[in-house]
Amino acid sequence: MSTTDALQESYQRYLNQLFDAKLLIPSGVKGVYGRSGTFENVIDQFEQYVTRQTRDMKPEVVRFPPVFNRQHYAQTDHIYNFPDLMGSVHSFMGREPEHAELLHKFQCCGDWAHDLDATEVMLAPAACYPLYPSATGTLPEGGRLVDLKSFVFRHEPSDDPARMQSFRMREFVRLGTPEQALAHRDFWLENAQRILKSIGLDVQPVVANDPFFGRGGRQMKATQRDQHLKFELVIPICSEEKPTAITSCNYHLDHFGSVFKINSADGAVAHTACMGFGLERICLALFKHHGLNISQWPESVRKLLDLS
Ligand code: ZN
Repeated sequence: MSTTDALQESYQRYLNQLFDAKLLIPSGVKGVYGRSGTFENVIDQFEQYVTRQTRDMKPEVVRFPPVFNRQHYAQTDHIYNFPDLMGSVHSFMGREPEHAELLHKFQCCGDWAHDLDATEVMLAPAACYPLYPSATGTLPEGGRLVDLKSFVFRHEPSDDPARMQSFRMREFVRLGTPEQALAHRDFWLENAQRILKSIGLDVQPVVANDPFFGRGGRQMKATQRDQHLKFELVIPICSEEKPTAITSCNYHLDHFGSVFKINSADGAVAHTACMGFGLERICLALFKHHGLNISQWPESVRKLLDLS
């Protein structure tokens, strides 16, 4: 069996186990699943554990919906770098004659989706995207530390249960001076490992790159790796050889600061860094490593996550 076939088989096996245990609910679309109450409770408890661990830092809590301003999207370079992952929201904007046309195509299996028009929103590709345009202006002395959480969308249908199209990220974002942003990234690289290891997830840090698109993307990947801008914490879920990133720590330099005109208190263009816990992936790693039955999980993990 080729490596690809073996990987595919192990994705399918774990996915079927999750369906059989009714932890995930299939929808007929790869990477789009319902979650059971048990699955959700693990995510809730993990999040509360993270909240308890970060209370002393007094982050500002902000929640954005999973859609954001199309004009803000257009100010980022997402369409150049990740066109294949984007999610655009369309709706019907015609009047009655166009509606009749739409229904005609809809009922006779025509390509009715072409009759829809782009709305003013895009699906958020990361929980932190909507934050930067809202931060235009001068940051307070000491910068800002923001606690975010949102469903995000990435169009990458896969049999890998850990590669969902719609999933949640809990992020902590720092906006400030280069020193503050770098310190945030470095702090979280250590702190996230400590948090994940405490619940039995023996993650390893690796230098990583985003999945930049096409030929031009190769250079972007190399630059990102050379400059050590992105680290991921990985752990085997379906494969020892291809471990899964369950958390990432990213330093964006002044990219978002210059695009959205964010300045630090000293008037210089702000630097930003974010860290993101992939909540579903962490949950899937917990079920993989401790078993599908929570009552059999190690006592220490059950205690930390308040799973009685
Ligand atoms: Zn982010």
